[in-house]
Amino acid sequence: MGVNPRINSITIEFSCQFSVEIRDSSLATILIAFSKLLPQILTDFIQKVLVGFGESAMGQTRKPFCCDKCGNNKEFIWKTRHGKETNILTVFQWVRLQQLPVQCKGCGHKFYITRKLLRIEPMKRIPAEVYRKLGLVGSLTTYRVAKKIVNMFGWTVDKMTIWKSVQKTAREIDFKVDSKELPQGEADGTGIGIKGIAKRGKELKVFVQYKSGGGVRIAGLDIGNYNSAWDKLFENSVEVLKGFKRFLLITDGDSSILEGLKGKVKILMQRCLWHIPYQAKYVLWQDGVKHRSSEWLQVMSELMEICAIRPFVDCQKTIEKMIESKRKRLEEVIKYCLEKGYTHTVAYLENAKPDMFTAIEKRLTGKTTSKVERVMRTVNMRVNVSKWSTAGALNVTKIRLAYYYNGFDA
Ligand SMILES: [Zn+2]
Repeated sequence: MGVNPRINSITIEFSCQFSVEIRDSSLATILIAFSKLLPQILTDFIQKVLVGFGESAMGQTRKPFCCDKCGNNKEFIWKTRHGKETNILTVFQWVRLQQLPVQCKGCGHKFYITRKLLRIEPMKRIPAEVYRKLGLVGSLTTYRVAKKIVNMFGWTVDKMTIWKSVQKTAREIDFKVDSKELPQGEADGTGIGIKGIAKRGKELKVFVQYKSGGGVRIAGLDIGNYNSAWDKLFENSVEVLKGFKRFLLITDGDSSILEGLKGKVKILMQRCLWHIPYQAKYVLWQDGVKHRSSEWLQVMSELMEICAIRPFVDCQKTIEKMIESKRKRLEEVIKYCLEKGYTHTVAYLENAKPDMFTAIEKRLTGKTTSKVERVMRTVNMRVNVSKWSTAGALNVTKIRLAYYYNGFDA
């Protein structure tokens, strides 16, 4: 915050006078007494160090700060060492500090050097390292529990402060594809409860990228309507995606989700084979096919087999033969459904058909389990416990996923 780090160190002597009545010698009682002492010591200590550094700075020819109005960094006069008070939240508690006002001899501008010395943003009451910690806790558990936990360890903060910290922390987090990781990923959506909208009214969409060392990282996050544009999910990544010869995207959506990226990047679509039998159960239900009836079993068992891909088959001829056989069987299933009048199932399978075998055809790693599915469980554990505003749900999820998958920490 404009303070020169070359500033000389100072030594301060700190003594304090404090009297407190303690009724017994149990650790609990001693700690309660200490918790009364803490705010006083903390405030006095910070104040003393601040004045010490303030004086040391004012004693230098070139000050470690400058006037915001005229840029002068040499000539200033002290107004007082005990200026207007200001509140700042530390990891222990709120402290009330007397600010240090100085006046610029160049232009007469008066300002406080308190936050410049503390290296926290002007006007801000909660420093970044503090709101990021609260933001992380608030994203990992409910606001009520977050408050309970931080209070247990001596922080006196309310739920609103934790909520605000989540919003602020989330604003600093952005996701995009990493050019150093694999050109492969998954996209999926999950329904979330939004205030004023019926259950499953909105969909939270996640785009994950595979990491070369195994596992996934988050490359995109968005909340929108069902079947609405997925463009926003890839928005930040367009430039990086252009750098890949091709990017294999596994998803249970159809290729329309990539409408917005057409012509810009080379993305190969692979239907998530893991999702297909799940989705099939839903469309069969829509078609009125009785669960576990012989018709139901016929379709499901065939789809299970078609969607089961053996990894590590590396003979091109075998792969071609396998795909040919799977396609034939899929056509049979579609024909069967057509005859039975299962219109939803037919529509679904016809729509999925073109993108079902892209990955094995191109001899890219075949896979049978969804990695994004795990990510979705991480999302749901936090968002399913409440009704949200769109921004509220997005922000909490951002921090949570950044922490679990992208190395964010506070
Ligand atoms: Zn000035």
